Amino acid sequence: MPTGQHLLVIDDQRLDRAIASHAATRAGFQVTGAASIAETRALFEKGDRFDFIVLDLALGSEDGLEILPLIARFNSTAVVVLASGFDGRILAASQRLATSCGLLVAGVLRKPVLPTALQRLLRQAPFVRMAAGETTLSVAPEKIRLAIAEGQIKPWFQPKTSLATGGVIGGEALARWVRPDGRSVAPSAFIPVAEQSGMIGALTDTILDQSLMACAHWRKTRPECWVAVNVSPLLLTDRGLTDRIEQKLQDHGVPPGALVLEITESNGIPDTACATEILTRLRIRGVNLSVDDFGTGHSSLLSLVRMPFNEMKIDQAFVREAVTNRDARKVVRASASLGRELGLNVVAEGVETEVMAQLVEEAGCHVGQGWLYGRALPPETFEAHLREAYLGEPRLNEVAAAEPETETAT
Ligand code: C2E
Ligand code: MG
Ligand code: MG
Repeated sequence: MPTGQHLLVIDDQRLDRAIASHAATRAGFQVTGAASIAETRALFEKGDRFDFIVLDLALGSEDGLEILPLIARFNSTAVVVLASGFDGRILAASQRLATSCGLLVAGVLRKPVLPTALQRLLRQAPFVRMAAGETTLSVAPEKIRLAIAEGQIKPWFQPKTSLATGGVIGGEALARWVRPDGRSVAPSAFIPVAEQSGMIGALTDTILDQSLMACAHWRKTRPECWVAVNVSPLLLTDRGLTDRIEQKLQDHGVPPGALVLEITESNGIPDTACATEILTRLRIRGVNLSVDDFGTGHSSLLSLVRMPFNEMKIDQAFVREAVTNRDARKVVRASASLGRELGLNVVAEGVETEVMAQLVEEAGCHVGQGWLYGRALPPETFEAHLREAYLGEPRLNEVAAAEPETETAT
């Protein structure tokens, strides 16, 4: 264990703080203690930074979870250990919350914390950093700019399959960056950087152009085929987006109904007049709109009510968890029935096994997407796949045609 690293123990109970501090000191750490959110904030504000933070989730009358955004803001590189007397489900949910704030979580410990358990987690911490480094490996914005200009970023297509007919009804474009040396860069490494550095518009333009070109090609032999393209909510501040998309549809000779825009909501779909206007105009022109990763964002239900979506994609985390977790199964069923009630096309993401397929079909989903039906394929291979695969009825168009009248409050 490297010595001299700084560790912060946040716990309102003096004895618990002392036990954790003692265990960490014996493991070679320089330890600081804080008993409240205010004390933690004061440390951060005076410039103290820590390599590790052990956080008690129940800080007396305060909510320990409120500290997570504080850590993310001031000390995001710290490895966090969560400790609590709550049951395993709450601990697991807290861990996910911390991860979603962008924090590196070494693990969770039930209180009273055993010194040996804490020491074991601290020993594992370098691996936590390493694993996180692999997935969040950041890419210089300039490299992305160059990759777009040189055409290194291309859409690959993953089939969407009708659960009623078993037929492929379209494909989702997933950005793939293969470098000239043959190595590929994961979307999780370059999409966030493109978003932060203002290049997501250029990236979306190239993916849209290539996807519409591919779709136009497919439709020569399969006229009912459509393509889905991911759109970052950040682009919903650009009023020119609607016209640009319409122009691209015309340029490639693809009807608006053959395009689905998947708006990923995990970062929140902005509830602004501008976003509403863009999405409504697109929908009026016949473009299909999908809420991606439904259930993971902060505004899922509000988005469904306020924005003119006609498709819902239930996030793969629920589908995966539903196999073993009764509560997740209920969430999948309730989401699917809500989607159907609202007249939406309901897609289940991340379907990897027959068991998952059966589960989402029984829940009432219309469409399945996942490794069971096929991984993302390069455009040429996807076209061959389409030619061979049985094409079911184009469910999306059916649903769009049967869409209920919009109710307006009087
Ligand atoms: P998404 O739109 O929700 O896409 C689904 C992701 O799940 C894809 O990851 C896909 O490869 C993966 N996936 C599909 N089926 C399975 C399965 O059965 N099991 C598992 N474990 N995973 C499955 P990918 O390609 O790494 O993309 C990640 C995210 O990056 C996408 O999530 C989307 O939000 C974003 N993204 C990808 N391409 C673009 C793009 O062109 N523009 C924008 N704005 N975002 C994009
Ligand atoms: Mg998507
Ligand atoms: Mg998704």
